[in-house]
Order: sequence, then C-alpha cells, then structure tokens
Amino acid sequence: MVDYFNSRILLQPSDVPKEWVNILPDLPTPMTPLINPMDGKPAPFEMACAIFPKECVLQQVSEELNIPIPKKLREIYASTYRPSPLHRALGLEKELGIEGDKIKIFYKNESFSPTGSHKPNTALAQAYYASKEGVDTLITETGAGQWGSGLSYGCNLFGIKCIVYMVRASFLQKPGRKILMMSYNGEVYASPSRFTDAGKMFYDKNPEHPGSLGIAISEAVEHSLRSNTSRYVLGSVVNFVLLHQTIVGQETKIQLAKAGVEKPDVLIGCMGGGSNFGGFMIPFVRDKLYGKLPDVEIIGVEPRACPSVCKGEYRWDYGDTAKKAPILKMHTLGHTFIPSPIHAGGLRYHGMAPIISNLYQNKIIKATMHHQTEVIKAALQFARVEGILPAPETAHAIKETIDQALKAKENNEKKVIVFNFSGHGYFDLLAYKEFMDGNLIDYELPSIDIKNALSDPEMPIIDESQF
Ligand SMILES: *Cc1c(COP(=O)(O)O)cnc(C)c1O
Repeated sequence: MVDYFNSRILLQPSDVPKEWVNILPDLPTPMTPLINPMDGKPAPFEMACAIFPKECVLQQVSEELNIPIPKKLREIYASTYRPSPLHRALGLEKELGIEGDKIKIFYKNESFSPTGSHKPNTALAQAYYASKEGVDTLITETGAGQWGSGLSYGCNLFGIKCIVYMVRASFLQKPGRKILMMSYNGEVYASPSRFTDAGKMFYDKNPEHPGSLGIAISEAVEHSLRSNTSRYVLGSVVNFVLLHQTIVGQETKIQLAKAGVEKPDVLIGCMGGGSNFGGFMIPFVRDKLYGKLPDVEIIGVEPRACPSVCKGEYRWDYGDTAKKAPILKMHTLGHTFIPSPIHAGGLRYHGMAPIISNLYQNKIIKATMHHQTEVIKAALQFARVEGILPAPETAHAIKETIDQALKAKENNEKKVIVFNFSGHGYFDLLAYKEFMDGNLIDYELPSIDIKNALSDPEMPIIDESQF
C-alpha cells in the first residue's frame, strides 16, 4: 500500500548535518594535486591561498574523514532552507504505470533553496570563510546564472562584494538571472568582456562572442589577482565544493531510512562540473566502498553536446581557456572547447571534478548521456505530474530516471531509484519555449572535434613522478 501521508519526507532544522563527508581518504587511488600553470609543479599552499579562501585550500587536500561544519553556517542553513525535502515521485510513478511499491522513485529537492538550486550550499560556506579571513570581494564566473545568484546571495549575507562574469550566451538568454544577482547586490558582466586581458583577446575580435565557462573563469581569476583582499571562488569541480555539497547526500540517507529504504538500488544525478551529483552520492559511495551498499548503481548524466566523462579523456588539463587557473587531472574535452549554445548552460564545462573522474576511473560510478530534446521532453512529463518545472540540467537526471524505471518495469524488477533534483527551471523558460516552438535541435559533439581539441599542442604534460 502506498503511504501518501509519508510521501514527502521532511527533517527538522536541527537535523542539518554537523559534518561534511570527505571522500579523499577513501578514494581507491590517491587524489592528484592542483598544478601551477606557470611551472607544471604542484601549486604551493601560499599560491593557492592567493586565489581561494584559505580554509577552502585546507579542505581541498584534507585527509580527515569528516570535517565539522561551523556552527554559524549550520545556523544559517537551518534558519533558511535546510534540510531540503525528499519526495516520493508518486505522480511520475503513476504516469509511468508503475504504481505500487515494486518500483519506487524518490527525488531530493535542492530547488527548495532561496536561489533555486544546490549552489547556495557551497556559496554560503565560501562566503563565510572569506568573511572570517578578511576578504572583501569574491569574484567568479557563471554559466546559466545559478552559481552567480547563489554566490551573490551568500556574499550579501556576509557583507562581501560579489563580482560575476556571466557567459554572454546566457547573459542574453537569461536576463532574469542577471536581475536576481543584482537584487542581491551582485555586479554582473557579460563574458568575454573588455575588462580583463583574457576577455579582451576574444572581445576585440568579436564583441558578440558567445563566451564559455573556460573564458569566464580566466576573466574571474585574472580580476581576483588584482587585489590581495579579493579572492576567486568556484561553484563546482574542486574538492572543497563537492565536500560542502555532501550535506545533500547525508540528508537523503536519513530521509530514505525514514521512508523505510535502507538500500537504494540506483542513484542518479546530472553532471556539469560534478558538484550536485558528487554531494548527493559521496555519502553513499563511502558506504559502497565500506561494503555496506555493495550493489548500489551510481549514474552521472551528461548532455551529448558536452560529454566530458563519456567521451573525453582522463588526463591533465587547464581549468580554463586562458590557462591562468590551476591544472587538474580530470576527464576533459580540452580547455579550448567552445560549447554549442545548448540550453543546459550549467552542464557546458569542458572538464569534470577530479573526485568524479577518479571514482569513474575506478569503476565505482557510471556515466551516461542524453540528447537535449529527449531531456526537455522528460522535464515536461515530470512537471505535468509532479508540478515543479526542472532546470534543463536537472532534466538530464530525470530522463535517465524514467529510462531506468521503465527498464525495471519491463524486466519485472523490484527497484528503488533516487535522483537529485538539482534545481528548478523558472529562469530557463526560454529553453522550454524553444522546445515548444520546435526550434530545439539535438547536437552531438563530433568525435573529430574532441580529438582535435585533445591533440592541441598546448595540452599540458605533467611529470607525475614528482609526487
Ligand atoms: C550548476 C548546476 C548544475 C551543474 O553543476 P554541477 O556542479 O555538476 O552540479 C546542475 N544543475 C543545476 C540546477 C545547477 O544550477
């Protein structure tokens, strides 16, 4: 019997996790360091601290299994939006013809945050540490605008100025996100801009250049190095961001247990830089590595237009286009990658979080990819029965969830499928309009383009024997 009155699993503000789960000590092969782009050697601590807040640099390489969440930060999470709800997707189950308790679908709802996604989880943490360290300005890039809004919100709470370089394609497609950032006192520039050397290289050739996350990162890093009271911050990819996001997976575990699920079968999340998927699945990965959840299948979903893990190579690459940000070992399509303007703006990064790349190489997690039209179709199918219109990024996870549920139905299997609902799509309505108007087309990144980008003579070669 379906228990309707226990289908939205809520926790109390006092249940906000007290620690973050640090997966670094558990990784089957050691984590690779951040490399200084100037000399190809591991970035010294002082150098990393000139770029990022110091506490984040410490967390980036921490060997502690669990890292305490500062009390002040837990108070803010608790008094604003955490813990977020876990929903049983009863409407979607009915829609797919799987009512009953044989196949269950749950989703963790990170769209419940003030800015509509999981991004404030780390934005608040980074702004908190920056304010404690006397930093007065945080500078960043944003693709779809979710990270820029999350950070503007976080910075404003802690009295820090926030400057955002927004990929021009999104700047034009999503004026709403820009207004939201400005509402939190954020300063927003279209990237490539005239204000940095990295931006000018592209801007002078073409003032309407659509931009890319790689270029916007170069601009933000360059800008942050102008003053010693400003820092660059990132909304994804690096270890400390995934660490901050592990509150999502920890809450999910408690909520599933409350719903009577001790062992989920499939965990799904969309992957851009890997932070929402990472934060959602890392607490379960630890259980998998410790033999408590040996059979759980963990699947990250990418767009076919930007398949860093599914089609890229695992190798050293620059984090940005202008080669100013640290070099990372990760799955990459090459730092020269300029994405086609597909709508899932947050999934258009050329690389992938080193933690995700490591877990994938070690076959702890899997990856798959979908076309944007089937993804948007799945999003609308979800919205019609569950109510919330998903962000196009999130919709990748929904498409895979639907496929998995239908496969289980066909094979007459018993399954619990849980996905991370990373954010809502109320600022992404243009993507839905394009779909409805029949203007959305599928785009698959040609293998030859990937091959060319990765054979770029400027791909870094790092001597691994030095560490
Ligand atoms: C930023 C964003 C993503 C992609 O980034 P990850 O670091 O891979 O999570 C996905 N969904 C939403 C709603 C986002 O805002």
